[in-house]
Amino acid sequence: MSVALDISHDRHPAPAPKRQALLGLDRAEIGSALTEIGLPEKQIRMRTAQIWNWLYVNGVSDFEAMTNIAKDVRARLAERFVIQRPEIVTEQVSTDGTRKWLFRFTDPENPNQPPVDVETVYIPESDRGTLCVSSQVGCTLTCTFCHTGTQKLVRNLTAGEIVGQVLMARERLGDFPGGERPKDGITPKGGTRAVTNVVMMGMGEPLYNYENVKRALLLMADGEGISLSRRRITLSTSGVVPFIDKIGEETGVMLAISLHAVRDELRNELVPINKKWPIAELLEACRNYPGLSNAKRITFEYVMLKGVNDSVADARELVRMLDGIPAKINLIPFNPWPGSEHECSDWEQIEKFADVVNLAGYASPVRTPRGRDIFAACGQLKSESERLSKKERDALAG
Ligand code: SAH
Ligand code: SF4
Repeated sequence: MSVALDISHDRHPAPAPKRQALLGLDRAEIGSALTEIGLPEKQIRMRTAQIWNWLYVNGVSDFEAMTNIAKDVRARLAERFVIQRPEIVTEQVSTDGTRKWLFRFTDPENPNQPPVDVETVYIPESDRGTLCVSSQVGCTLTCTFCHTGTQKLVRNLTAGEIVGQVLMARERLGDFPGGERPKDGITPKGGTRAVTNVVMMGMGEPLYNYENVKRALLLMADGEGISLSRRRITLSTSGVVPFIDKIGEETGVMLAISLHAVRDELRNELVPINKKWPIAELLEACRNYPGLSNAKRITFEYVMLKGVNDSVADARELVRMLDGIPAKINLIPFNPWPGSEHECSDWEQIEKFADVVNLAGYASPVRTPRGRDIFAACGQLKSESERLSKKERDALAG
């Protein structure tokens, strides 16, 4: 469904009440808001810790459920804040167990702005469950093989909206205390959590929404909250070089690079950001990535495009140029989408390419496409949210 705007008959709708978004704040920010609503100074630390635990460990989305907080305080909290979990517009389950949600967010701090839709994907495997999270609605970049790249940037997601995708997925998958695993799905074996890993590989370029993404990553890794290991969180970038070192320093998460070509001439075409930061600069930033070691390698993603970047000579050049960088190589069979100009390389060609990569010492480099039947595979994500014209935005703002 596209966002249909009917602004003809109601130009001045009653403004919805403004409340502050609670998800995404850090402890100090929650603390100062509690002071503002009149809580005594000596309670602030304890109340902040309680709220934190309810939000991120117990996964509650309603202040009424915070039973160790006095009723009148709960009421004051509800007046001041919103726990802005997304609404589920659709949930689809693939024959291979991959699950895709279309989540809708309304910004509680700008309640008269139209809501935005994003896609989030869950990929279960026997030993892990990976959640693919979006960072933007649409993308400013226009990589030729990517469906998201055809959707103009509508807006950045807030930190709370990014972490809200993780909370909502965990709720649906029965990951919070007292939750139940879905009967129609596959989850990792044993008593482990359904969501063990997060990849920032959904819609958008995470390093073009730096502050919000950083905050969200810190929340996911927070030891008293969602508590995912930094080794199990991966940020994928098309190559925003000036922010690569910074995200490593400030969050310690794993890095993935959407490389896709070994020559600047071709990469300029496929991943146009390469014109700004060419391959040599990108690889230099990779060599300097904080904490890089054989135990903490960078993943290089390489989409297999028939007759474009899939020759054996390209494979040889790929392993040559990555020499000396602790790396994994991930060959991604191209996932088609309506109107895409590329084709996926033939399986034989992918094998030939993979052989060169294997011989150079990189293990199992081909990523099996998951969730293609529900359009959930890499690069197939896109929502119908559209960027409004200035006139439409002004009309909505009243
Ligand atoms: N903007 C970030 C993260 C999102 S894209 C980035 O570009 O890295 C996640 C991964 O899917 C990237 O490696 C991207 O290049 C790849 N991808 C995009 N479209 C694809 C498609 N149609 N088939 C296979 N992989 C694709
Ligand atoms: Fe944006 Fe990544 Fe898609 Fe390129 S591949 S258009 S950077 S989401």
